[in-house]
Amino acid sequence: MVDTTAERIALVRVCRKLQAGGFIAATDGNVSCRAGLESFLITPSGKAKGELLPLDMLLVNLDGEVLQGSGRPSSEIRMHTLIYALRGDVGAVVHAHPPMLTAFTLASMPFPAEALPEVYLSFGAVPTAPFATPSTDEVPRSIEALVADHQAILLERHGAVTMGATPHDAFLKLEKLEHAAHTLLYAHLLGKERISPLPPEALHKLDRLIS
Ligand SMILES: [Zn+2]
Repeated sequence: MVDTTAERIALVRVCRKLQAGGFIAATDGNVSCRAGLESFLITPSGKAKGELLPLDMLLVNLDGEVLQGSGRPSSEIRMHTLIYALRGDVGAVVHAHPPMLTAFTLASMPFPAEALPEVYLSFGAVPTAPFATPSTDEVPRSIEALVADHQAILLERHGAVTMGATPHDAFLKLEKLEHAAHTLLYAHLLGKERISPLPPEALHKLDRLIS
């Protein structure tokens, strides 16, 4: 069995940041990261994520079957197995219920990533997946067409999922997006009825920076 100590500690750190930062409440959310070629670690179901210890993380195979650890893996494990199956470059997945990002989906507002240059540079577009019943196969089905081309996806009336090389990387993406969502709300409160994207020539310049 591979040594997963470092990955377990990385997951614990991210879980604590998610809870401390208000990205999740109670037993919400789930985090995973690859551990070897054929397996990954994931948070257990029904536990407060900010209180988890390294040995609470479950080692599962790419079908989501538990290889090591006790308890049930996260009820959203099929979202994680789908992302690892489709994205060989992704090493970690964070799913949380960030209030501001989730509010955008409740207000039926597409997230305007093209309005803020640093968000656009980091993410390109940030799509919203259609509503899916949490913890069912509807969730992976709702994001399947979006996973290949995006680092972050909002889940309608539910939350967000971000992908990264490591748990910390995926967490930083979530943090950056939630922070941007606050900025966009403040602009709205200050009187901007509709947040406009950057003009096409400005977006082209940013595209050149990425490519
Ligand atoms: Zn959720």
